[in-house]
Amino acid sequence: MKLRLAERMYRLGTETAFEVAARARALEAQGKPIIHLEIGEPDFDTPKHVRQAAAEALEQGYTHYSGSTGIPELREAIARYAGKNRGLHFDPANVVVTPGAKPIMFYTIMALLEPGDEVIYPNPGFPIYESMINFLGGVAVPLQLSEIRNFHVNIKELESKISSKTRLIIINSPHNPTGSALARSDLEAIARIAVEHDIMVLADEIYSEILYDGVEHHTILDFPGMMERTILLDGFSKTFAMTGWRMGYGIFPGEMIPHISRLVINSVSCTSTFSQRAAIDALEGPRGEVDKMLEAFASRRDIMYEGLNKIDGLRCNRPEGAFYAFPNITDTGMSSREYADYLLNEADVAVLPGTSFGEYGEGYIRISFANSEDNLRKAMERIEKANRKLPAITAEIGAK
Ligand code: PMP
Repeated sequence: MKLRLAERMYRLGTETAFEVAARARALEAQGKPIIHLEIGEPDFDTPKHVRQAAAEALEQGYTHYSGSTGIPELREAIARYAGKNRGLHFDPANVVVTPGAKPIMFYTIMALLEPGDEVIYPNPGFPIYESMINFLGGVAVPLQLSEIRNFHVNIKELESKISSKTRLIIINSPHNPTGSALARSDLEAIARIAVEHDIMVLADEIYSEILYDGVEHHTILDFPGMMERTILLDGFSKTFAMTGWRMGYGIFPGEMIPHISRLVINSVSCTSTFSQRAAIDALEGPRGEVDKMLEAFASRRDIMYEGLNKIDGLRCNRPEGAFYAFPNITDTGMSSREYADYLLNEADVAVLPGTSFGEYGEGYIRISFANSEDNLRKAMERIEKANRKLPAITAEIGAK
């Protein structure tokens, strides 16, 4: 029998990080000393008090289903926390807890899009946006983020992409994979466009607490008319080093809640209950371990930014937030994919090609600096050495 898949399966994309990580691990199993800079997750353990809270919750019997949108105490804690961090007021009734934040993308696009509706999304950008839009029958309209603008949104270009079919704009700040963070004035302009054309906005703010140089996080929800048309996506994976727990949330306009709740019931019923209990402790418990982790990211950001710019063949903007560097690699004379493969095979360093984040990622690689300072320094030494073997770079050095 020949397996016949639904046509939509051929429109489903993926997150290459998981595939590159598998290849890197296979090389490691052969004895290669791989340094992993491909995956977007903190290398720190979840804070101890959160782990303890989960263990206690298990003992206390938090082993049953919860309501589909989450346990009330966690929804309240999220509304308080997300509101306090943004200087806004959120109603706990508008909070939906999900297994990781990813389902929020899926549910939002599923709930809002008719076939043929257009979604404007950042490119390069988190690959699941494009994947979900295509999968669910929408038209993915890329908004290029370019290096010359420090990977910020070009408002004129955004305006030129709006059509009568535009249903949703996706923004992500701080941004994966470029590390850019949107300025308040840009968000204000995007809000104006959304209101004027009656467009919904998905604001992916999962890196909202990972910002450098004292830069403040700004949210599009702060502008008139945005509460009723914005879905805020955030979660625990990054800020609290909880990737494996699968804990995320969305804050939706109230009218969407019964519909999103039904999507949750149809797909996962609810999120793991003892994890939800522990998540309250993440939000309301001591901040010490999180603060230490954020400080470590800041110091690594400096090491990477300075180090990468010293390597012949690379040029890198200063990441404003998140834990990624997105250096330009065009001087290597290779495509993004060739160069990422080259680094894996020649330098034992796993990174992602920029094209894993869309067509406009060509010419770049993404390096996650969620790794120790020692490993980052070692990785840069290896990259420098590998680059010196490249004909395009030797010719350039010779000409200097
Ligand atoms: N948004 C962005 C921009 C991300 O980088 C990630 C994780 N890599 C997510 C959302 C989803 O995170 P999770 O499902 O682990 O909460």
